[in-house]
Amino acid sequence: MEENFLEFAKTYAQGLWISSAIFAALALYRLYLVVKTKAHRKWIFKVKTDFFVYGLKFYFFLGLLAFLADIPVWFLSVAQFRAIAPALPLNILIFVLTWISVQEIILCFTVSDSLINQFIKRILFFLVSIFCSTSFILAAFIVPGTYQFPNDSTLVRLDMPVNGTWMAANAGQEKWVNYHNNFAPQNFAIDLIKLNEEERFFTNSGSDTLDFFSFGDSVFAPTNAVVYKVVDGFPAQVVSKGIDTINPAGNYIELDLGLNQFLFLAHLKAGSIAVNEGDTITVGQFLALAGNSGNTTFPHLHIHIQDRPTINDTLAKGLPFLFNNIQRKRYLNWTRPEFPYLIRNDKFKK
Ligand SMILES: [Zn+2]
Repeated sequence: MEENFLEFAKTYAQGLWISSAIFAALALYRLYLVVKTKAHRKWIFKVKTDFFVYGLKFYFFLGLLAFLADIPVWFLSVAQFRAIAPALPLNILIFVLTWISVQEIILCFTVSDSLINQFIKRILFFLVSIFCSTSFILAAFIVPGTYQFPNDSTLVRLDMPVNGTWMAANAGQEKWVNYHNNFAPQNFAIDLIKLNEEERFFTNSGSDTLDFFSFGDSVFAPTNAVVYKVVDGFPAQVVSKGIDTINPAGNYIELDLGLNQFLFLAHLKAGSIAVNEGDTITVGQFLALAGNSGNTTFPHLHIHIQDRPTINDTLAKGLPFLFNNIQRKRYLNWTRPEFPYLIRNDKFKK
């Protein structure tokens, strides 16, 4: 980890620019070689060759299609996370990789003489197409899972517990988009971070809790409930150094929603909790301020619902939940789906 989030964001951006430049140079060089040797390259339908070449070309073609499908999911959902990467180099890298895959897909329909005649070329092509295509195809198997979410009319529906525009830094059904899902009680948990108008989540150097827009922002009841438990008194962690693994939730409010559903709002700011155990609360009621207490690297709001009351009870299971009345931006446009769920990098507002 870099010294602060600004340094981290710069390093991230540099990495994206460098990768884009390397991949673009490779793609151009490949194009140059193809043009230079075009007299020795023919459309696959016009050559007579063996099944070895046809079969590998076909397998490479399938692998490239899978790669094309992997690109948006990897960069827009799985890769954490878009608020830290400037949009321009990220979009350029996506563009360059798309260009490479389209170029290679077209070249799959051509065969060069050397591939037919040279033993070493055949072995190289065999290795490249088996290795690349197999990894791309395997990666494509995680693609549908990252979008999926239980679709059941009995799922809990919550109001947005915050105001303004926020982003899900970790959320969804799959481990690929939600590290919480490695631990059953926190299945479907989400981490929320507040964004400003430029869709950034911190200002200045991002080394102080106050640099984060989430810190000190009001948290409201996402549903009618009874306050089951309140834990307060843990200080805000130093940014990037938060390792209170003994009290991972820090200051938190636990709400009893009935039907063995217990909702946790965690990492709250010390001394800000405005409700007491046993209170009956109504949706929209002010509860506390978001903070950076517990096991957290930077200020954010953590929400999850368990089927047992003790936090992180290893016998508990995390439960999925949907939202009422929110607009969501996944990839490109703001939409207002009916009872949406969130996956990593989704932005949302009322
Ligand atoms: Zn969390």
